[in-house]
Amino acid sequence: MRCALISTRLDLRRYLGPASAGIADRIEIVDHRPNCPDAQVRLAVAWHPPDDAFEYYPNLQAVCSIAAGVDNIIACPSLRPDIDVIRVVDPAQAQMMSAFVTWHVIWHQRRFRSYLDQQHNRIWQRIPQRAARDVPVAILGYGEIGQRVAADLATLGFQVMVWSRSAKLTPPSIRGFHGAAGVDAMLGETEVLVNLLPLTDETRGILNGELFGRMRRGGYLIQVGRGEHLVDGDLLAALESGQLDGAALDVFATEPLATEHPFWSHPKIVITPHDASEVRIDAIADTLVATADAIRIGQRPPFAIDRDRGY
Ligand code: NDP
Repeated sequence: MRCALISTRLDLRRYLGPASAGIADRIEIVDHRPNCPDAQVRLAVAWHPPDDAFEYYPNLQAVCSIAAGVDNIIACPSLRPDIDVIRVVDPAQAQMMSAFVTWHVIWHQRRFRSYLDQQHNRIWQRIPQRAARDVPVAILGYGEIGQRVAADLATLGFQVMVWSRSAKLTPPSIRGFHGAAGVDAMLGETEVLVNLLPLTDETRGILNGELFGRMRRGGYLIQVGRGEHLVDGDLLAALESGQLDGAALDVFATEPLATEHPFWSHPKIVITPHDASEVRIDAIADTLVATADAIRIGQRPPFAIDRDRGY
């Protein structure tokens, strides 16, 4: 089966590296060439494709992302509604994300910013501590990654709440909320807010002043979803007013973050360059093979997202 590599941001052939050689007996990989129609292509790997990319593949059946998120593929105007969009599911990525989020939760709980300030001024002073059970953490999104993060934080003893679109069964150590009423109830008890939502029309701009205002005062934001979830000015205002005490930002509406952006120099913001977790290349290759196998036997590929929901 022929598979086209399509990206305006990455050299996908290089990115996939030896993993693409490992599947060459089952999948013929070709580079996308602008203005060159190819009726043999039934599968594609895409990351920020050009607007007209899919016009050249009349028999394309599925497009695989190289990540958990598919928003940049769905946003492509030439993507026909009948083409399946496939996300990558990688338990190792969920584990990596969990460690990243946990680090930030503990950074806030154990007041490491204060220790750094003290060290800077050579001050030896113990700081009153709070037990994990006294720190309520809410996770927006209880999907493949949110579930792993929630389970690990609960194991460490934090009060964990999760929010999803549909009602979910959760273990006793995790309280589940869903829908608009659910988020209201949850935010009133939230000190640390973790964003692990996909970017959709419904979730764009969800991290705004009104939402921060419903959290406990002095809260902390861990933003690892997508940059467009956050209203930047509202975060700065919430930090200024003390409604939020700090924020960890891994994703931004424009990446790389512009050097003049006020987030860079804000004393209460920790920035990482969209590095919270990454998918293993082998997991992408496995997804491609599973997708090609499903297409061959006329089945819907595993990990195909719901095009109507957008994730
Ligand atoms: P999933 O698709 O598995 O889960 C998404 C979750 O969000 C589901 O629980 C879903 O609810 C919930 N959700 C979606 N829309 C709404 C809504 N309108 N209201 C309430 N809940 C909603 O995604 P993953 O867990 O795999 O990944 C989540 C996101 O994390 C990715 O889309 C990406 O944006 C981000 N990410 C960031 C990375 C980074 O390095 N910074 C790395 C990997 C992912 P329901 O269960 O009811 O459908």
